[in-house]
Formats: sequence, structure tokens, C-alpha cells
Amino acid sequence: MLSRARLTRLCVLFAAACLLAVPTQAASPAADDRKPLSFGVFAFLGVEKTRAKYQPLVDYLNQTLKQERVILKVLGIDDLENAITGGALDIVTTNPTHFLVVRKLMPMTGVIATLVPSEAGQAMHQLGGAIIARTDRGDIRSLADVRGKIIAAPSASHMGGYRAQAYELFRAGIRLPGDAARIDFLGEHQAVVRAVLAGRADVGFVRSGIVEMMQQDGSLPAEEIKLIGPWFHPGYPYRSSTRLYPEWPVFALPHVDEHSVRHIAAALFALESDHPAARAAGIHGYTVPADYLPVEELSRALRLPPFEQAPDFTLRDIWEKWQVFVILGLLPGLLVASLAVALLLALRRIRCEKARSDGLLAGIGEGVYGCDLQGNCIFINPAALQMLGLPEAAVLGKNQHLLFHHHKPDGTPNPETACPIHQTLRDGTIQRGEEWFSRADGSGFPVDLVATPMHLKNGLRVGAVVAFQDISQRKAAEQELLQLATTDTLTGLANRRHFLAQIAQEAERILRFARPAALLMLDLDHFKRVNDQHGHAAGDAVLKAFAQEVTESLRKTDRAGRLGGEEFAILLPETHPDAAQAFAERLRLSVEALPIPFEGMTLGITVSIGVTNVSPEDIESTLRRGDRALYLAKEGGRNRVELLIQEQESSGA
Ligand code: GH3
Ligand code: MG
Ligand code: MG
Repeated sequence: MLSRARLTRLCVLFAAACLLAVPTQAASPAADDRKPLSFGVFAFLGVEKTRAKYQPLVDYLNQTLKQERVILKVLGIDDLENAITGGALDIVTTNPTHFLVVRKLMPMTGVIATLVPSEAGQAMHQLGGAIIARTDRGDIRSLADVRGKIIAAPSASHMGGYRAQAYELFRAGIRLPGDAARIDFLGEHQAVVRAVLAGRADVGFVRSGIVEMMQQDGSLPAEEIKLIGPWFHPGYPYRSSTRLYPEWPVFALPHVDEHSVRHIAAALFALESDHPAARAAGIHGYTVPADYLPVEELSRALRLPPFEQAPDFTLRDIWEKWQVFVILGLLPGLLVASLAVALLLALRRIRCEKARSDGLLAGIGEGVYGCDLQGNCIFINPAALQMLGLPEAAVLGKNQHLLFHHHKPDGTPNPETACPIHQTLRDGTIQRGEEWFSRADGSGFPVDLVATPMHLKNGLRVGAVVAFQDISQRKAAEQELLQLATTDTLTGLANRRHFLAQIAQEAERILRFARPAALLMLDLDHFKRVNDQHGHAAGDAVLKAFAQEVTESLRKTDRAGRLGGEEFAILLPETHPDAAQAFAERLRLSVEALPIPFEGMTLGITVSIGVTNVSPEDIESTLRRGDRALYLAKEGGRNRVELLIQEQESSGA
């Protein structure tokens, strides 16, 4: 393999020597018959300087090649790429990172040779970068110390003067340009070294070899500059802070025939370092294609074209490049998350509040229930359920009015329109009052209730809360008190005051409806004798028996009262004086015939009765007239009935 390469090289050399030896032949018109090949070169030094550098090489190729004629085309990046895709070029050389870009544009034959530059007469097979700082900078010792510093570099597109260093820093976790305080691109390496020496920059990036060159030519005093993050590359003559990268590749486009590619490669390999063309171009020569993988790795890491949109993003990449969008993208998520948290907290609060209100509701003796705006029960406490004799399941969701508020105590229906709870549901007013609730078994009980509107926090009315108490006992006590206040305890009849109140009440009705009514005044005859003969208890027994007889003789609407001692009165509504007189006569007779048992004896009594019509506008005179009629009955011999009506009174007066 080696021997064949050497053989090829020797053959090429021999051919070249022949051509050089007979220059007149080489310049002959036969040269025009050779196949033209366009050699595109990236104008890395500008068009003129690059042309000046490469023209000697092209001349050498034209002198060397027998079948091909090379035409130099020095082009800027865009023109070069357009020429490649347009098929205007056959062979191309450019820097390694740009080669990766071009390789993406269209298929290539691959690299046919790699440049070996010459540095101070020495072959530079590979390219490294140096990260330098002043020796007295104790704060800059390792790659990590570069963070936050001012950096000087020749240019951002420089492999040995920026990219190689940026990649090492990248691997150390430092991203340029963001993690530097500033980066000054000074155009050339020497300016970078000077900036570091003068303190205008903390750190400098230069191609490996520059420092040594400047030290050799005396422009940089020894030991003034130190290297940060040194690498050891066996056989490499310069100090380097980076791994090493191959130099410019020469590659052919796919349409170029294989023979021509071989001829070009052979000619390039055959160029010796001491050849005038090599010296003129400032290169050592060309060698077999280098491995460009490290360049690709670097380009991917630094997001250089064509990897500026490489898919292997890190989270940090995403954050640095897209923080606005990341924030905007995360906002809805954050919003949803915070809403969920708020909801959970609210649910927990609601559960706590429910537990607390359930506890409260269970603990209080009052019945409490809530209903929605339609009157359907939404909650009810145990006390209410117990009073109503209903299980909770029978109440929840049911209309409270239809369930237990449907009738009045007298058994008549209780319309919903009269229901104070529905009033609260309708207009939001607080309603109080005594109502009648029915139990499941059909019985009922009086309640004292308060209906309060139920509102949401925003003020929307959603129902009512009803708190109620069973007031049966209170009602019974009240009834008892009323009884005591209105009834004569001995006879059970209305007492004087109550009877007079009843007459006054009846008078109003008589007046309003122009109805008749009669009043009877009654007095037991010679009652004193009963007491005297048989004792006070006998008198009481007589009074009771008489009252009993009176009560039994009355209609439902009639009223009887004990006015005092052995004096009584009877009010007969809807009764004319004649009918009243007849009633009095019947009563007189039944009293007369009444046997009153007392201590083994049978006592008897008679009664005198005065009858009169009720003059509703003047109760006092009615009473007086009744008394007079009674007096007439006494005067007439007792055990009699006397009638005295208003006309007679006025005519008699
Ligand atoms: P007259 O026929 O004229 O009405 O005669 P009288 O004896 O019935 O009437 P008088 O007014 O002289 O007597 C009434 C008596 O009634 C006097 C009083 O001691 C008695 N008396 C009043 N209240 C009671 C009572 O609650 N119980 C008893 N046992 N006697 C009473
Ligand atoms: Mg009397
Ligand atoms: Mg009497």
C-alpha cells in the first residue's frame, strides 16, 4: 500500500520533472486540449490574498497534470456554495467546518487530500488552539476560571483561534459567548497576545504555535504568558489547550471522473515542501485525507452550520434559546397546576366546613334544614328528622312543604302561598312565626320557625335555611295559663272578666252583621240557706251541679259565666228574646228537678232568671237590664223567669 503510494508519487515526480525540464512543451498549444477542471477555493484571506496564496499551487498542478487543466476560482462563502450546487466547480478546498456545511449541500466523493501547512518551515499536520493568560494572573488557572472573563480572539470563525477553545470550554460546562464577560475579536493572533499582555483581555485564544513563534522572534518575553488547560499531544511541536483538528480538505464533486480525481490527488501528494510552489503557497504539502470527525463533533457541540439546529438539545440549550417560549409554554401548565392546587385546597376547606357544620347541626337541639329555591330539601339535621319522624332519605330532594307542612292544626290544607318558608324563597326576606308541621304518622305539632335566605358569596340567592322548635309543651302551658286566667276554678265556667270580654266580642259581631242575641242573668234562690244548713262544701257542690246543668243545656256557640258567688250569666247568640225566655224556662225547670247528691243527702236548688236582648252598642245597659229582669224574677217569688227587652225598658221607663 505504502510502496504503491510512494511509487505513484515517484512517477508523478518523474512526470513533473520531465515537464519542468521541457517548459516549451508544457506551454505548447497541446495543453489546451487538456480537460479543464475548476478549482474552487474559499477566499479565507479575501479574494486577492487567497488567490496570491493558491495561484502557485494551481500553477504547479497545471505543470504536473497531463490530462487536466486546473482553473483557479477564489470565491466567498455564498458564491462558493452556489458554484458547488450549480455544478460550476470540480474540485474544492475550504476550511474543515465549512466543508461540513458543503457536504450537506450535495453528495461528495469525500476528501481526497488534507493540507499540511508550514509553520516556520515545520509541517503542521494538525491544528490546535491555545488558551493563554498572563503568568501573574493567579485567578486564572483552569478552564473553569475562564467563566466571566474578558476574552480576546482573532475571529469567531477561526478554528485554532476560537472554535477549538470554545469546544473545550463547552465540554467544561462554559458556554460562549454567554458565559464570558465579553469577547473581543481582534482580527489577528498577535493582537490577541498583545491584548492579554496589556491587560485589555483576561484570556486570549490563539492558534497553537503562535506563542512559541512570538517568543522565538523576541516579540514576546519568555514566561510572560501561561497556557490554561494544557493537552499533551505526542509528536506535536506546540503547546495546546485543545484537541487537534485536521487542516483544510481538498474534495472533488461527484461528477468529476475517477481518473481525474486520482490524478489530482497524486499531484497534491507529490508536492514536496521545498518545491517553489509549496514555498510560495506557504504550505508543507498535502497528505492522505485526515479524519474530520472531531471537526464534526465540535461543530455539533458549538451549533456551527450545518448543525445549528441539531436535535440533541440539552435542557439548558432549550432554556437559553427559547426561554420566552418555554415560559409562555409552561404558563398554561403552571396555571392548570395552580388551579388544581387551589381546587384541592378549596375542596379540603369545603370538607372541613361541612364537617364543622354537620357537627354543629347534629349538636343543636333545634331542627334545621335547608332547601333550594324550589323548596326541595338539600340537608336536614338529626333533631329535625327525629321531630318529624322521618329518615333522612325520605326528606332529601323532596319538597318540604308537601312533605310536612301541608296541613294546619285544624286539619285544613295549608296552601303554599301561605307558607312563610316559600315567602323567604320568593323574596329573600327573613320570616318567623308559629306553624304546624305534620309527622309521618299523620300527627302534627306546633313549631316556632325562622326561615333565613341562603346566599352564595356573590350574593346569589340559592335557597333558605329553616330552624324550628317543637312548641307543643309551651303551647300547652300557655293554654293552661289562659284557662286559669279565664275560667272559674270551681265551676269550670268563664269567670266574670272573661265572660264580659266575650259579651263585648259578641257585641261587635252583632253590630257588624245586625244579628240578634240574648242575655240571661241567673241567681240561685236562698243559696245562703244551703251554706247555713249543710255547710260551705254543700254550697260548693250545689254550685258545681248547677254549672254542670247549665253547661249541658248550652249550644256550642252559647257562653256561660260565673259573675260571682251564686250569680251567673248566659249569652245566647243568634237568639231572639222569646226563644231566650223559652230556653230560660227549660233551664229553670231542669234545675228545679236536679237532684244534687251531697254526703248521702240529695240537695235541691232553684234559680231565678232575668232575660233580656243584647244591645250591642251599650253592654252596660244590657247588663243592667238583665239585672233588673232578674230582680223582677226574685221579686215575683223566685224560681221564675222574667223577660225585659229594650223596648219594654224604654216604654216602662
Ligand atoms: P236570694 O234568694 O235573695 O238570692 O238569697 P240568697 O241567700 O241566695 O242570697 P244572699 O246574697 O243573701 O246570699 C248569698 C250567699 O252565697 C252568701 C255567700 O256566703 C254565699 N256564697 C257566695 N259564694 C259562695 C261560694 O263560692 N261557695 C259557697 N258555699 N257559698 C258562697
Ligand atoms: Mg245572689
Ligand atoms: Mg241568691
